[in-house]
Amino acid sequence: MPRDEELVGTYISRPESPEVEMLIQETIGCALVDLLANKGLYQNVELDLSSVAEHTAQIGSSSADELKAEFSRRPWVPISPGLTNENLMRAEFFCGVSDSPLSAPSSELKISFPMPGFKGYCGKCRDDHSFTSIGVLWADGFLDYFPRMSEKTEQLFNFHYNCSICRDNIIGFLVKRTGLRLSLCGRSERPRVETPKIIPKKLRPIMADALGAVSENDVFAGFYHLRTFCEHYMKSCLGLSVEERIIGEELCEKYNGILDRRMTSDLPSMVVIYDTSSKYMHSRAGDRGEFRELLNQVEGHLKAKELFEQYG
Ligand SMILES: [Zn+2]
Repeated sequence: MPRDEELVGTYISRPESPEVEMLIQETIGCALVDLLANKGLYQNVELDLSSVAEHTAQIGSSSADELKAEFSRRPWVPISPGLTNENLMRAEFFCGVSDSPLSAPSSELKISFPMPGFKGYCGKCRDDHSFTSIGVLWADGFLDYFPRMSEKTEQLFNFHYNCSICRDNIIGFLVKRTGLRLSLCGRSERPRVETPKIIPKKLRPIMADALGAVSENDVFAGFYHLRTFCEHYMKSCLGLSVEERIIGEELCEKYNGILDRRMTSDLPSMVVIYDTSSKYMHSRAGDRGEFRELLNQVEGHLKAKELFEQYG
């Protein structure tokens, strides 16, 4: 992750600095990459400050907890790489944090950090490429309501990224910072969802909806799409059209009837997956772990079927 001593700003005279500031830069970078590359909407990432604890232990300082509280309060200033000096000053001004007076306590000092790049899917290149931070907008500065300084300082950032290969695919992210936590509140483009290769191609969009819903914390919708997947899958194996009206029980019974007789009850059963998704969906029960378990069973069922067909 990028670190930049120039961006640390005001030097604080203490044995932990400026190394600790640069460790925070790296930590924010890691959290951001995790958030932007891997998380769906309304998901959070907490800063992992273990490197700060290691650093303080190494130099015999006992201030790890105090430093954690300090960085939870200090306003952050994200800086895109390649920003000219003039724009760098503007960036700091518009984040609502002007130069701190000499007497300011360390917990009021801004900390600037270089924005990391991340690897993501470019819809224009139709491939995974690096995305580079090209700019950051704030809703504060003139407006004066951010940053909300407290033990858990709040800031709202709008990050702009561009594909480093085609340079023609700008994606915007809305990220809320609360203390040491980052939340993804918006993104201008929905991320591509990878579906397991074993899923039949024409049913992958349904599975992508299931995975997409769960990545945005709507697990019940995930069960709904998973059940639809089971229904469409069983119908396609039976040569029935999707519009065909048939009750779930009958569909499951017919489907079991065409399975290889060696597909014993020890193997993951499509009927059980269908029933369980149905139950969770109606009762609004079940969590991510249970969704993941059902997904593993879908993959297990399809793999077993593929094997029996291969050696049938
Ligand atoms: Zn591209």
